[in-house]
Amino acid sequence: MKIVDIKVTCVNVPFEAPLRWSLGVETGTSRAIIEVTTEDGIVGLGETYGGSAIEHAIATARPFVIGLDVMDFGVLLHRFAAFCIGYETAIPAVVRAGIEMAFLDAAGKAHGLPVYRLLGGKTRDLIQFGAYVFYRYRDDKSSTGGESDAASILARTKELCARHGFTAVKLKGGVYAPMEELKAIEAIAAEFPNYPLRWDPNAAWSVETSIRIANQLMWRKIDLEYLEDPTSGLEGMSQVRAAVPIPLATNMCLVAYDQLAPGIRMHSVDVILSDLHFWGGFQQSRKMIAVAEAFNLGIGMHSDRELGISTAAMLHFAASTPYLAHAIDSHYHDQIDDVITSPFVYEDGCMRVPEGPGLGVELDRDKLEKYHGDYLRDGAVNEFYDPRRPSWVPALPVF
Ligand code: MG
Repeated sequence: MKIVDIKVTCVNVPFEAPLRWSLGVETGTSRAIIEVTTEDGIVGLGETYGGSAIEHAIATARPFVIGLDVMDFGVLLHRFAAFCIGYETAIPAVVRAGIEMAFLDAAGKAHGLPVYRLLGGKTRDLIQFGAYVFYRYRDDKSSTGGESDAASILARTKELCARHGFTAVKLKGGVYAPMEELKAIEAIAAEFPNYPLRWDPNAAWSVETSIRIANQLMWRKIDLEYLEDPTSGLEGMSQVRAAVPIPLATNMCLVAYDQLAPGIRMHSVDVILSDLHFWGGFQQSRKMIAVAEAFNLGIGMHSDRELGISTAAMLHFAASTPYLAHAIDSHYHDQIDDVITSPFVYEDGCMRVPEGPGLGVELDRDKLEKYHGDYLRDGAVNEFYDPRRPSWVPALPVF
């Protein structure tokens, strides 16, 4: 069953309130919704980052896609691999991932099988997520947000855990001085002593600050599940790790296959946060996880503002990858809407793996049109500049 067309529609979906992090502020998500159509009229859905560069890359990829059978997603990978040696930026990994996702959705629909069956079957029905907690600006329209200190972060954490049933927590840091953010970490640890707890300042700290703060955590007997990207680069992370016995995780310094060998040699990280988009799709992520397993590295999953199609892909992947044992991240509870007909809901902090053919989600064409209109009006919202903090220079490290 051959692919005869590929098209892309970019959308903007806002957050309930603006999220703050070390590089500035995020007001919503821009995503590219990819549709591949087969000669029999089956439409396979994929999703990746939105924006004009992504639209251009999908146009570049078109000749590699048209005429391939939907089951030839391995051939697709080889075609991309051959083309992208030395030309990585022409069809970046995030675009290859979105197209592979659409192939798998079409293949599943063509054969009446959920994607997890194409990946070897599922080992679980429910995938656990953590409460992803951000410092937020207040949104006056929705009267939400405004978390700016330990008390309000703790209140937000309690609200998310009560509403969605989360039993793991991650604080996005890198916004305030680390000793100030440490007060929020202490408050969460005291309130939820048995919940795995992570802290992610997105490499806003120097090596020496990272070591100092890690020591503060140990003196206060705060048992983090892991500290995520306290500082930047494989070398900086390895220096921190050599100095403190706290597991380090990354979605920043080890995000491509050729970074695995140096990262492992240098013991830069203990946990790799996988990401279907960063790593170029399901097949490439599987290869990375096989290497991680051989070297006893832990595997979690990173989130960067996915809508429902990518979220479904993450669930199928996690369900078919038992080695992925840490609760995964999602911005889903911060996004006000989705472009699928049945948005996901949390059940006791988990999402259920869809059972329909393919990814098991359907496009809501009205919402696609509505949020595409917002994208056309505003452009992509992937710029992180914070107009309320004009002197903030997100050169790393800032603390
Ligand atoms: Mg991170």
